[in-house]
Amino acid sequence: MRGREAAAGPELIPLLDAASEAAATLRDRAVEAVAAKVTVGGKVDTAALEREQRAAHGLAWVATYAEAIAQIASYARRMESEGRFGELESLLAQIGAAEYLSQLFGGVLMSQGEIVRMHELGLSKDQHVAILTEPVVKLILGATPETRARAVELIKATQGTASFGDTGLDETLQAIRDEMRRFSEAEVVPHAQEWHLKDEYVPLELIAQMSELGVFSLTLPEEFGGLGLGKEAMCVVSEELSRGYIGVGSLGTRSEIAEELILNAGTDAQKQEWLPRIASGEVLPTAVFTEPNIGSDLASLTTRAVRDGDVYRLTGQKTWITHAARADLMTVLARTDPKEKGYRGLSMFLAPKPRGTDDNPFPAQGMTGGEIEVLGYRGMKEFDISFDGFAVPAANLLGGVEG
Ligand SMILES: Cc1cc2nc3c(=O)[nH]c(=O)nc-3n(C[C@H](O)[C@H](O)[C@H](O)COP(=O)(O)OP(=O)(O)OC[C@H]3O[C@@H](n4cnc5c(N)ncnc54)[C@H](O)[C@@H]3O)c2cc1C
Repeated sequence: MRGREAAAGPELIPLLDAASEAAATLRDRAVEAVAAKVTVGGKVDTAALEREQRAAHGLAWVATYAEAIAQIASYARRMESEGRFGELESLLAQIGAAEYLSQLFGGVLMSQGEIVRMHELGLSKDQHVAILTEPVVKLILGATPETRARAVELIKATQGTASFGDTGLDETLQAIRDEMRRFSEAEVVPHAQEWHLKDEYVPLELIAQMSELGVFSLTLPEEFGGLGLGKEAMCVVSEELSRGYIGVGSLGTRSEIAEELILNAGTDAQKQEWLPRIASGEVLPTAVFTEPNIGSDLASLTTRAVRDGDVYRLTGQKTWITHAARADLMTVLARTDPKEKGYRGLSMFLAPKPRGTDDNPFPAQGMTGGEIEVLGYRGMKEFDISFDGFAVPAANLLGGVEG
């Protein structure tokens, strides 16, 4: 039995559109209220932003929720127009939208122990309760235990399929998803548990197969050997490979990070040198950003890069570096201007290194390190790295300009 207030199929769509509008209005009021707290003379003031961290963080959540509701409404409209908005799709859209709307009114769960409420962002009572329009209330009250139970019933019937409910992917992405799922089932799932228990690397032969399938070149433009697909392709591929083993699903992320950096900020010569080789899987990159005590706040990092003739010399500590020993190329973030304490003093380097082994993870001068043993997320291994004058050719400063 569906809930008394529940709407379904086509009648849900105007409700979702109206809810999307109400959430956008709330977000706009929240932007104004937080702006009043953190700006001075029309500009964001660093001290005020520091003081009002919680409100700023909360605003990010509110904006994300408003966008999520807009996307649910857009998904519903598109699915309906293509005749793909069945009962399960309709239930999922309703339950999802109702949850976000309820939280926007009652309090947004930013983490397990932190809830931000609208008055904390500076919204007045009227601005806050304005979200409870008739369609919003109808959607919230429509998400009952009965609607959830019906959704579970339909989900149970889809066991064994890649997902439940129509994901809304187009034909190309659906085909990629099917191909990756078949590959994952055949080549990853049978071995994943053994790789995990033995804490082994994902085999290079499997990485070669992934290269053949284009896993490392999905979003790169064709001129650099890529498939020219959007970020959605990366999500679909990562999801299907991770279904087999997280270490496999996450392998391509490092290539994606390096490609994104080089494509957007590299010189023409750097693009020509690295992008095709990363795309083909010949070069395995690793992202070298985090330092002991510096994670989210990367702008404060302290690893130094000092120009010395034709090279920069890196000195400092890095930690939690995934796939570091087996990688061929490090994208290293380091400080080139010590007078500048924030992100403006940082530069990115494309630092080549030889592949290491378990016995000798970093066979390179000016670089040592060791494995951080982990309980999960195995297959690429995690490392501490210590740079002591490690040389990177000056030509490998990303974009050729410091800062
Ligand atoms: C398995 C694994 C693999 C990793 N691989 C890599 C890698 O390949 N390369 C690499 O460079 N790094 C890697 N990292 C490091 C990762 O990027 C950092 O752990 C991450 O950036 C968070 O930093 P932190 O752990 O120091 O946490 P912190 O920055 O100390 O954060 C702790 C908590 O505080 C919250 N928080 C932080 N700042 C704020 C704020 N301003 N407002 C509100 N809340 C805040 C965070 O959300 C978090 O919940 C890896 C980490 C893990 C666990």
